Amino acid sequence: MIDPFGRHISYLRVSVTDRCDFRCVYCMAEDMTFLPKAEVLSLEELDRLCSTFVRLGVRKLRLTGGEPLVRRNVMSLFRALGRHIAAGALDELTLTTNGSQLARYAEELRDCGVRRVNVSLDTLDAAKFTAITRWGKLGKVMDGLAAAKRAGLAVKINTVALKDVNDEEFDDLVAWAGDEGFDLVFIEVMPMGDIGGENRLEQYLPLSLVRARLARRWTLEEIDYRSGGPARYVRVAETGRKLGFITPLTHNFCESCNRVRITCTGTLFMCLGQEDAADLRTPVRQSESDAPLEAAIREAISRKPKGHDFIIDRRHQRPAVARHMSMTGG
Ligand code: SAM
Repeated sequence: MIDPFGRHISYLRVSVTDRCDFRCVYCMAEDMTFLPKAEVLSLEELDRLCSTFVRLGVRKLRLTGGEPLVRRNVMSLFRALGRHIAAGALDELTLTTNGSQLARYAEELRDCGVRRVNVSLDTLDAAKFTAITRWGKLGKVMDGLAAAKRAGLAVKINTVALKDVNDEEFDDLVAWAGDEGFDLVFIEVMPMGDIGGENRLEQYLPLSLVRARLARRWTLEEIDYRSGGPARYVRVAETGRKLGFITPLTHNFCESCNRVRITCTGTLFMCLGQEDAADLRTPVRQSESDAPLEAAIREAISRKPKGHDFIIDRRHQRPAVARHMSMTGG
């Protein structure tokens, strides 16, 4: 699949549920309303959708959410999708998780062909962790990370940079990730979804500042490594680990975008920061043949926009897009 700007679409992210066991303050309001079950694709429908994308050339599949590991029986989906890894049709099957259920599932994920996980963790301070996630317990995530290590899964930590919340901890996070053997990626907060009383401008911390501060303590070596995604990486000489920066607001990363996203209701978003979308649930549910589904996917890819334009400043405090990150999974 090639879009109108010559970009090969080889990476699909699938939000398998809109539900989560955390309520991170920058991501969700505390009293979220979740989708009725009938609207959400079954695990079999998700498998069919993902498998169609694999047939059309997707080589990397990431399950996300909401929290993917809270979806009932989600391991059957991982197991089903693992067949594409075994067959060589897919290079990577992975997930983004808050880590709360990893202690239970790390081994099984490895059995299904998963080799790497992204775990979201914004602080190493237990009280702060509960303040940010509202409902989370740091100890459980740490147990999950230990289980992932034992299972031989490579771990990348995703940390959202939050002004006056975790900005004193960045050096500690770099040191900790180094000790644990994890890569670390800092993410700028993005203006997505209504988050109740929280104020985006107060949360926003440009990563240019974060990087400059880190450079006082660490030797950040430029490296060529690109994950195919939006992160720019350096190597921390003292720890040997990669450190990434995702800067949707200070750096537009669209020119190399190779990805599209599906929500748990089968809506395909061609860009994280734009509203245009395609309904894939109808072709999945209306026909046993995959032909209408394939046609709908190809038509949608022909509409993939050039890029997005997130802005947070005093005049733009409302969400750039109405949906929450948990809908498309970030
Ligand atoms: N529950 C899983 C997790 O915690 O990783 C997967 C879904 S979560 C929506 C994916 C990532 O998006 C997390 O790293 C989270 O911190 C990030 N995220 C959520 N809302 C965001 C926002 N407004 N700006 C930047 N990152 C956000």
